[in-house]
Amino acid sequence: MEAYNNILIFRHIYGTIIKFLNAQDEYKCNMAGEGIVEEAFRLMYPERDFPYSASIKYTDHFNDYGANVRFRGNVLEFGLSRSWRNVSKEIRIGLFQELMLKIFARRKMEMRGMNTMHIDLYNGFVKNLHIAIPKTNIEPLLKGSFDRVNERYFYGQVEIPNLVWGEHSTTSLGSYNFKIDTIRISRVFEKLNEKDPELLDFVMYHEVLHKAHKFRNNRGKNRYHDSAFRMKEKQFEDFEGVDTRLKNALKRARIKKILWFS
Ligand SMILES: [Zn+2]
Repeated sequence: MEAYNNILIFRHIYGTIIKFLNAQDEYKCNMAGEGIVEEAFRLMYPERDFPYSASIKYTDHFNDYGANVRFRGNVLEFGLSRSWRNVSKEIRIGLFQELMLKIFARRKMEMRGMNTMHIDLYNGFVKNLHIAIPKTNIEPLLKGSFDRVNERYFYGQVEIPNLVWGEHSTTSLGSYNFKIDTIRISRVFEKLNEKDPELLDFVMYHEVLHKAHKFRNNRGKNRYHDSAFRMKEKQFEDFEGVDTRLKNALKRARIKKILWFS
C-alpha cells in the first residue's frame, strides 16, 4: 500500500498544476496586480522585507482554479487559471500565501509563516467549489462502483462527482481533484474489474473518502492522508485481503505490459 499511497499523495498535492509551459507566448500576460503578492507576503511575515519581485500570469492551460508558482532567481512567477480573476481579493491573497508556503517549504527555507485568515478563506472556498461544478462527465462503469461504495460505506450521502478514466497506469491508481470535483481512476481497472470488481471499489472508496473527508489545513500544508483518514480507510471490508489481491493483480498487469511491449 505504501508505494500506492506515496503516489496518491503526490497526485493530491495539486492534481491540476503539474503541467507548466515554458514558452512565453503561451501566456497572455497580465502584469498588473503583483502588489497583491507582496501584500500576501507581508500579512504572513509582518517583520520581514519582501525581497522578491513577482509576476502573475493568467492562462487557459490549467483546469479551473488551478495555479502554480516557480522561483527563478529572485522572481516568484505565479501561473493562475483565468477563473481566479473573478474571485475576491481576500481569497486570492490566501491562494498566493498557500503557494508561497509551498515553494518555501520545497526550498527548505525557514519561512514557517502564520496560518492566516486568508488561507482559511482560500481553503473554505476550495472546499465548497464542488457545489457549483457541473457533473457532466460520468463513466458508467465508474458510476456503478461509486454507487456501490456510496451505498455501503456512506449511507448514499456523498454527492456524485465527475468520474473519469485516467491513463492506463499500474502505479497511479486514482486521484480526487477538489477543484474540479473529479475522481480519476486508472484504466487498468477496466480489465481488472472483469475478474475482481472489489479492486476497483477499493480504490474508489479511497477517493470517495477524500471527497467526503476533505482535508485538514495546517500552516499552509494540506494533510490528505492524516491518521483519521487512515483509520477510515481501513473500514473497507477485508481491507488487508483486498489490498493483497490488488497488489498481486497489479504485479501481474505490469508483467503483462512488459511482455506485450517486448
Ligand atoms: Zn489519497
